[in-house]
Amino acid sequence: MSGYFENIISGLKSLYIGLKITNKEFLTKPITLQYPHVAVKMYPRYRGHIELIKDPETGTHRCTTCGMCEKGCPSNCISVKSEKVPGVKGRVLRSYILNFTTCSLCGQCVENCKFDAITFSNEYNLASRRREDYIFNLLEKLHPEGIPEPVVDPELLKKEQEKEEAAKKAAAEKKAAAAAAAKEKAAKSAAAKDGGETKAEEKS
Ligand code: SF4
Ligand code: SF4
Repeated sequence: MSGYFENIISGLKSLYIGLKITNKEFLTKPITLQYPHVAVKMYPRYRGHIELIKDPETGTHRCTTCGMCEKGCPSNCISVKSEKVPGVKGRVLRSYILNFTTCSLCGQCVENCKFDAITFSNEYNLASRRREDYIFNLLEKLHPEGIPEPVVDPELLKKEQEKEEAAKKAAAEKKAAAAAAAKEKAAKSAAAKDGGETKAEEKS
């Protein structure tokens, strides 16, 4: 009989403890989220795919197209394309392709960049069945509204044009000098040939 009451007391005790925990959790702010309807705030050390950092002063990237990230990537998944634009200092970044299918998130590229131009993003929602969805142009991602054209410096443009003109002139002068030298050499050799033939005729 005493076992019967002990079981009832034990059951009530368990019920009390269970309800206490339930009530406590009921009043506590939930730590779960209604994913995917609610965005998850990632921790600062989380490593998503790399991304270009937007410079608040210029409103665009800081990439100098030096290529150190591309060279240092052990998975060969970065491709930086740039070109020289007249009147713009250095080379202009035209595309920064990341093949995220082979990226190991090792961080070599971020460490190699001496211009603080790339970092790890907080992007986590990347589920897809298509391989192409993991090939990113980071420049387009930085400027989804359209990639801005670089600002041309008129002074630099003028200097570059003058330098180009001077180089063209020097090349033309060099070519003309070479042509004159060749002409002179040909005339000398023709004269020498004529002189030889005249002597031979006189002897005969
Ligand atoms: S994190 Fe590593 S593997 Fe990924 S792009 Fe950078 S260097 Fe390459
Ligand atoms: S991201 Fe950095 S390392 Fe890579 S090309 Fe640009 S400046 Fe160079």
